[in-house]
Amino acid sequence: MTNSELIFRRDAAVARSLASAYPIFVERAENSILWDADGKSFIDFAGGIAVLNTGHRHPKVLAAAIRQIEAYTHTAFQILPYEPYVALAERLNALAPIDGPAKSVFFSTGAEAVENAIKIARAATGRAGVIAFAGGFHGRTHLAMSLTGKVSPYRDQFGVGPAGIFHVPFPCEADSVSVEESLKALERLFRADISPADVAAIIIEPVQGEGGFHSAPEALLAELRQLADQHGIVLIADEIQTGFGRTGKMFAMEHSTVRPDLITVAKSLAGGFPLSGVIGRADLMDQASPGSLGGTYSGNPVACAAALAVLDVIEDEFLLERASLIGNRIRDRLESYIANEAGRRIVGLRGPGAMIAFDIIDANGQPDAAAAKAVAHHALELGLVILTCGIFGNTIRILVPLTVPDDQLDDGLTRLGVALGKED
Ligand code: PMP
Repeated sequence: MTNSELIFRRDAAVARSLASAYPIFVERAENSILWDADGKSFIDFAGGIAVLNTGHRHPKVLAAAIRQIEAYTHTAFQILPYEPYVALAERLNALAPIDGPAKSVFFSTGAEAVENAIKIARAATGRAGVIAFAGGFHGRTHLAMSLTGKVSPYRDQFGVGPAGIFHVPFPCEADSVSVEESLKALERLFRADISPADVAAIIIEPVQGEGGFHSAPEALLAELRQLADQHGIVLIADEIQTGFGRTGKMFAMEHSTVRPDLITVAKSLAGGFPLSGVIGRADLMDQASPGSLGGTYSGNPVACAAALAVLDVIEDEFLLERASLIGNRIRDRLESYIANEAGRRIVGLRGPGAMIAFDIIDANGQPDAAAAKAVAHHALELGLVILTCGIFGNTIRILVPLTVPDDQLDDGLTRLGVALGKED
C-alpha cells in the first residue's frame, strides 16, 4: 500500500487531533535511516522526538527486549514484581545527579512521569501549588497540559486547568527575557498570587525541548535551588527530552552544579519502548503511601529490559562523548550555512552536545514559522526527517541518533543545507 492510500485511510479512521507532521508512512527503520511505504529512504534527524539516542532497533536493545519477550511480557509490577524493574531502578539511582540516596518508580509515558512527580511533591510537602515556566512542555494529560507553558495548540480547547498552577517567564534571548526578569516574576508571584509556603514544586526543563532548545542558565537554576531550600519546595528537573546522553552528559542537569530533588525521565530511556520514570531523593520518594502510585503497565518488563540495554549501549559506545563530537560537527556545518547566502535568515544557533537548534527569521528579523515549516518540508522531499519547535514555531531542531555514522550525519546536514537554500 502506498503513502497516499494509507493517508486516505488514516484521515478516514484516525481522529484529526493526533496530527502527523509528515504524510509518509514508515515501513522499516535501522539506526538513523527509515524507509517509507513508497520504498523511499530518509535520514532521521527527528529520532521519534528524542526517543532514539541509541538509534532505531539497536541490536543490543532488540536482543534484550526479545529475551524478555520470550520469558514473560507482563505481570503488573504492583501484583507480581520482576527483576529488570529493580535492576533498572538500582542503575538509575546510581547514575542520577541526586544528592544522597535515591529511589525510582516507573510508568509508561513522559506525561505520566510528570503527573507522578507532582503527586510525590504534593505528598511530601502537604502543599498543592506548582510553578512551571512559560514555553515549557510537560505533556498532554490534564495536569501535565496545565503545566505546559504554551496555550495553542495544547490547552486552548480544554478549559481552565486545575487551581494552583502558575507560570513564570523562562530566560530566552529570542523572547527578550533575562534571568533577572524571570526571578523578578517569581518574586512577584510569591507576593501577588501564592505564598511560597503553599508551593509544593517548581518544575523546569534544564533545556526547554518543545520550547526551542533554550538552556536554563546556571544562575537561574542556582537561585531556584536556593528558593526551594529556603521555602521547603521540591525542585523537579524534567529531563524527558534532555536525558540519556543527548546533551553530552547522561542528564542535562550535570552541566550545572545544581542538584534537583526529583528527575522525570522517559523517551530515550528505553530506546523506542514506552517507559518513563521519576528518580528522586529517597526521603521524598517514600512519602507517597503504598498503592498511591502505579498503573497496570507501569514499568513494563520488556521496556525495562530494553532500558538496561540502552544504558549499556550508552556506556559501551561512549555515546556521551559521541554526543559532543556530533554536536561539534553539526555546529560547524550550520555555521558555514549561516556564513553564506543561504543562511541569511538563520539565527540563534544553540544547544548543548547534540541537542542543537536554530531559528528562522524573516526579512524584518521577525520569527518566521512558515519558512521553518517550508524548510522542514523541503528537507523531507530531499530525504531528511527533521522537526520544528519553539515558542514562535520558527525553530528547527536536530535530534539525530547519537549512533549515526559520520557519513550519514554529513549527508543529512548537506540535505538540510539544500533545504535551507530552497527556503524561499
Ligand atoms: N516533558 C518533556 C520535557 C517533553 O519533551 C515531553 C514530550 N515531548 C513530555 C514531558 C511528555 O512526554 P510524553 O509525550 O511521553 O507524554
